[in-house]
Amino acid sequence: MKKIEHLGIAVKNMEDSNSLFEKLLGVSPYKQEEVASEGVNTSFFKSGPNKIELLASTSPDGPIAKFLEKKGEGIHHVAFEVDDIVEEMARLKREGFMLLNEKPKKGADNKWVVFVHPKSANGVLIELCQEIDK
Ligand code: ZN
Repeated sequence: MKKIEHLGIAVKNMEDSNSLFEKLLGVSPYKQEEVASEGVNTSFFKSGPNKIELLASTSPDGPIAKFLEKKGEGIHHVAFEVDDIVEEMARLKREGFMLLNEKPKKGADNKWVVFVHPKSANGVLIELCQEIDK
């Protein structure tokens, strides 16, 4: 794994949280994107070399809606950038980690993504991401 690519934060209301993070970070989101397959709306901020991804649910029974119900707003996942997502998946499987998807799927921000179950990572949902066409 190369570095933390971004932190994902689950929010109830994207409009409110966009203005909150604009005030907090002093910049506007550089990208806003819906990932329909996941029932989620995303908004990306840059803070120096780091990125924050806000996630709001677009469907009442999507993964973010369920997370908000159970845990409320807050840090949802930590995403790590990898060079070869398929190889990392195989390595993590060998190490006994439980992956949430069998194959990489298209996530926001032009990335292939795979999630590692929080049960196998001290309660933290881990995302692996690889830039598409790299
Ligand atoms: Zn993410």
